[in-house]
Parts: sequence; C-alpha cells; structure tokens
Amino acid sequence: MSAVRTYFRDIWMALFTVTVGMRVTFRHLFVPAVTLQYPDAKLKLPERVRNRLYVNIDDCIGCDQCSLACPVDCITIETIKSTADQDLGQTSTGHKKRLHVPRFDIDIAKCCYCGLCVYPCPTECIVMTDVYEFSESDRHNLIYNYSRMTSTEIEEAKAKFKKAEEEAAAKKAAAVAAAAQKKQEPPKASS
Ligand code: SF4
Ligand code: SF4
Repeated sequence: MSAVRTYFRDIWMALFTVTVGMRVTFRHLFVPAVTLQYPDAKLKLPERVRNRLYVNIDDCIGCDQCSLACPVDCITIETIKSTADQDLGQTSTGHKKRLHVPRFDIDIAKCCYCGLCVYPCPTECIVMTDVYEFSESDRHNLIYNYSRMTSTEIEEAKAKFKKAEEEAAAKKAAAVAAAAQKKQEPPKASS
C-alpha cells in the first residue's frame, strides 16, 4: 500500500469515527436529561430512606438494645443507675427512665445504614433520617455525641450511685450480722 493511500485512508477513518461519535451526541440532544444540577437540584427521596441517624436523647432509657443490634459496633452507650430518691421522669412513650445516659456516641463513619438499631428501640427514639449531606474533612467530626450530661452531672450521678450502693451494702451486712448474732443466742428457758 502506498504512503499516499495510507494517508487518505487515515483521514477517512478519522472523519468516519468522529461522525459516529457525533451521531450518538446528536441523538442525545432530543432525549430528556437524566442528570441533575446538584446541589442546586436534588432528587426527591423515598419516604423510608435510610441516611443519617438521629437520637432523641430525652426519650432514651439506656437499654442498650440498639447497640447490641449494631453489626459494626458503632454505637457506644454508658449508663449510671439512678438512686431510689431520684426521679428521671418518663419518655414520651410512657417508659420510666431509670438510667442516666452519660455517653451515647455513634461513629457514623462506620455506620452501614442497615437500620438494625432502629427496630429494637422500645421508645422509638433512634431513627433514620433523610439527611445525606454530612461529609467532613476530619473523620473525628463523624462521631456524634448525643448525651447532654455535663462532666459535673456525670460525676454527681456516679458519686450518688456509689454512696447508695455503699449504704445498701452496709445495711445488708448489718442485717446479716444481726441474724448471725440471733442464731448464737441461747434459747430462752420456758417457764
Ligand atoms: S444503621 Fe446499622 S450500622 Fe448504623 S448504627 Fe444502626 S445498626 Fe449500626
Ligand atoms: S434502644 Fe432506644 S432506648 Fe435503648 S439505648 Fe438505644 S436509643 Fe436508647
């Protein structure tokens, strides 16, 4: 094949492939657009979409059910028992609150949005929302802290529970000692 012939064949091939490509482009000029101008335009999400979690901590009873159900261990809960003289009130679903919740963290960077934590919650206070725009440049900002207890309140609650436990233990020990002493006393002679 001569060099001239190869030259003209290459020109023909170039024009042909451009024409094929432009044919596809041209066809799409008359097809409705499937892309969105995000973030100016957004898709309407389904009603039961699973995105970022939210916890209404006022309704949390610290039962740990959500944390136990989580397959990736991204929920960390710590609780402190209330004492007999403390009334922590009720949830909006009527459940009595007996535990302080000094820590309720969700590491949303680990969350796989399975929703398994939502179903066992007895007070329906952990829910999936439709919020999906929460990217962060520092992954530590993706650990959400829901507890609102201050460090002073936590220390007070711990000290109160410890004191109540010590008092209960002392009361129990005194009762055991009294029972042992009663056992050792000789039986009273009958008249
Ligand atoms: S949605 Fe799934 S992965 Fe995320 S916190 Fe709940 S149980 Fe864990
Ligand atoms: S299951 Fe609900 S009430 Fe229990 S600890 Fe989790 S969020 Fe709180």
